[in-house]
Amino acid sequence: MNYYSTNRQAPLASLEEAVVKGLAGDKGLYMPERIPSLDAGTISHLKEKSFHEIACLVAQAFFGEDMEPAVLDRIVRDTLSFETPVVQVHDNIYSLELFHGPTLAFKDVGARFMARLLGYFIQKEGIKEVNVLVATSGDTGSAVANGFLGVPGIHVYVLYPKGKVSPIQECQFTTLGQNITALEIDGTFDDCQALVKSAFMDNELNQRMKLTSANSINIARFLPQSFYYFNAYAQLDRIGKADKLVISVPSGNFGNITAGLFAYWMGLPVKHFIAANNRNDVFLEYLHTGIYQPRPSVQTIANAMDVGAPSNFARIIDLFSRRGNPYTEIGKQISGARFTDEEIAEIIKRTYTKTGYLLDPHGACGYQALVDYPLASDETGLFLETAHPAKFKDTIDAILGKEIEIPPTLKSFMKGEKQRVALSHDFNGFKQYLMAQ
Ligand SMILES: *Cc1c(COP(=O)(O)O)cnc(C)c1O
Repeated sequence: MNYYSTNRQAPLASLEEAVVKGLAGDKGLYMPERIPSLDAGTISHLKEKSFHEIACLVAQAFFGEDMEPAVLDRIVRDTLSFETPVVQVHDNIYSLELFHGPTLAFKDVGARFMARLLGYFIQKEGIKEVNVLVATSGDTGSAVANGFLGVPGIHVYVLYPKGKVSPIQECQFTTLGQNITALEIDGTFDDCQALVKSAFMDNELNQRMKLTSANSINIARFLPQSFYYFNAYAQLDRIGKADKLVISVPSGNFGNITAGLFAYWMGLPVKHFIAANNRNDVFLEYLHTGIYQPRPSVQTIANAMDVGAPSNFARIIDLFSRRGNPYTEIGKQISGARFTDEEIAEIIKRTYTKTGYLLDPHGACGYQALVDYPLASDETGLFLETAHPAKFKDTIDAILGKEIEIPPTLKSFMKGEKQRVALSHDFNGFKQYLMAQ
């Protein structure tokens, strides 16, 4: 299968080119030429299959033409070493827990899949080394660093703003060593992102080393996220709750919800989607006005969604243009919601007191968006719980007025020795550092 750019200026790319390059030459995002579909018979039998089998079915539909089935099966198996259980919170509201992976956030799925797929292409083509540059405000860096750890032929540089990521998150990418280098930048997250962008545009640097990115612009990172939507459907179907499914996705760069929309276009029966935002609500504004107006992000307690210009918006527009006027079509299938920090804190506290279920600040937006939708009694609401609450321990402790437990996986990161290279936010210093490696 070939991939085209959402800007339609760059030439078509093979899967391999799309994965190695990340962004198309015209700065557009790659889209598959066709969206394969699973027929109703296949969908109705999902409930008899394991997560691995379901993921292979979906992976095969997208990548099957370009890879041996056994290779793809291996990559899927290595990616999904953990479950994504659906848990009832109360009544007809369910949580899809995506935090049982190594760094306790949903990004583990995409990061692990991309690392293995890229690793496979590097080996196949005999490419000497690919350098992955990733700017992070916390969660992306830890998932990418852990996903790519020890993959031959890939070196990862994680750029993070000094003093602005939580201590637990910092440990998750500074203690690994091997092919992972943490760069502590004296600046903000925007500075880190600007350094990465400048690096991709610098001719001298790109002649010296092969550079790519590992955020959700990369097809290999965002598409595999559709696996768990199918798996969630299978779990709900087993208990007779898969009809009239409304799915709420806490959204920042909109990679996760785009993967859900792809699942829907492939034939997954989803009645409606909700994009839940914090105060960074440019998508909600688009739904109201039809005008997409990116703006600088504001800081919130759901910080993985502090995005003012969601990169996958272009993919959503492209997808729905296939049906007609994108604004009208998007409005039929997706609603929006927005929550302030005060509201998020209130939701976490109230839900915990009433049900015993502990939401993280991102999942809290997803949960409340279903309640407010409002969900009808014959519908099933599913929100994506995108991270373990312990990743935001200080925030949650302050909201609940007590100390929450840290799971052993997180504790083990905190034992390692932190290693990082301190750099200023000046591009020349960063470039000289990379050139010297
Ligand atoms: C990255 C992230 C999000 C936002 O996901 P997008 O794919 O960028 O929309 C939501 N919650 C958590 C915990 C995250 O780490």
